[in-house]
Amino acid sequence: MEKNVRTPIKTAKQLREFQLEGLKWTVAHAYNGSGYYRAKFDKAGVKPKDIQTLDDIRKLPFVSSKDLQEGYPFPLLSVPLKDVVRIHASSGTTGKRKILSYTAKDVDDWAEMFARCYAYAGCTKEDKIQIAVGYGVWTAGCGFQLGCERFGAMAIPSGPGNIDMQCQFLEDLQTTVLCCTASMGLLMAEEIDKRGLRGKIALRKIIFGSERSSDAMRKRISELSGVALDQLYDIPGLTELYGPGTGLDCQYHRGIHYWADYYILEILDPETLEPVAPGEVGEMVVTTLRKEASPLIRYRTRDLTRLITEPCPCGSVMPMHDRILGRSDDMFIFRAVNIYPSHIDQILSHIDGAGSEYQIILNRDKTGKDHMLIKLERDMNISDSSLDERIRNDVQQAVKRQIMVSCEVEVADYGALPRSERKTKRVFDNRD
Ligand code: ZN
Repeated sequence: MEKNVRTPIKTAKQLREFQLEGLKWTVAHAYNGSGYYRAKFDKAGVKPKDIQTLDDIRKLPFVSSKDLQEGYPFPLLSVPLKDVVRIHASSGTTGKRKILSYTAKDVDDWAEMFARCYAYAGCTKEDKIQIAVGYGVWTAGCGFQLGCERFGAMAIPSGPGNIDMQCQFLEDLQTTVLCCTASMGLLMAEEIDKRGLRGKIALRKIIFGSERSSDAMRKRISELSGVALDQLYDIPGLTELYGPGTGLDCQYHRGIHYWADYYILEILDPETLEPVAPGEVGEMVVTTLRKEASPLIRYRTRDLTRLITEPCPCGSVMPMHDRILGRSDDMFIFRAVNIYPSHIDQILSHIDGAGSEYQIILNRDKTGKDHMLIKLERDMNISDSSLDERIRNDVQQAVKRQIMVSCEVEVADYGALPRSERKTKRVFDNRD
């Protein structure tokens, strides 16, 4: 592993000590630096001196996206504005954008974390890393770029879209690592296949950011692009928590190692806000340990995942969580059942003959009864509709068995559903 991403932490005990020190620092820093945090803590009757053990984190009040909106444009700011060297914003679909501030040290810490991601993905300084994610006020492009330069590989800041240029760079520059959303990865893999580029390019790794990739999608991307399945990596990331680069699944793909020397991760039941049992699915709640400008204390991310409790063969002391299994906001209620899109794509991943692309369409009929239609593509290798009936039945039965609801299924030709360069919309809820 590269020298600059090494952590002095070797054991779980050292990690806990480091976390406690970071937690104490963060709480005191926020209390003294931010009137907003101070008022929140005072209301909850908690003072920095009350934090003596890691369990004391549970005395602290939660922060949510509502707090970020209230503090717009510089929410949770805990340093003088003159110390802020940069802001980033989330794309924000509803209401005001979330804007987060960074000090020079925050930017430096982010670079270290992201450089560690490239190291865990097995990159070297020889790598040429094509960064096909959005540049601008959001965190993706800046984060991938910053980490790449800190790591010492060559960054090719190609940005999203522009498939012709992407393919040209892959061929002419002999790019070895491609960074993109999973949707863009599928689009690129289809182009590599269509243009017969597989033998002419040197691509050996793809790192997906900012969008969950299903197993079926990864398999398809691997087959079409020629990149080995175990060389596809996921980087989770939240603008609120620096941006992408706060963890990565190593080459063993047992889960996503997260950088627990930069933040504490709690997995809580989104309803009761109590910890779930180890290994159970819950909401990720994060507390930063070194963030200066906009520290997060028990920030409710709305992302759902679970802790992976088995150790990873790579021997890293960094704990693991599962892939992001969806957002508690993405959950839809259908006939009184809570359903996450990830439920559906896990089911489809195991249906023989089903492609990776699908849509979930929800309608309500005149009698007030709800209907769910799953539209999915046939696998690329099946050219006619002779298996459609069987695929339809398999999907219906699997959904019934695993989610306990009935659905209608429509099978479409491979390539019939829209592709996206950013994130693919899966759920279309037409009920009032
Ligand atoms: Zn590992």
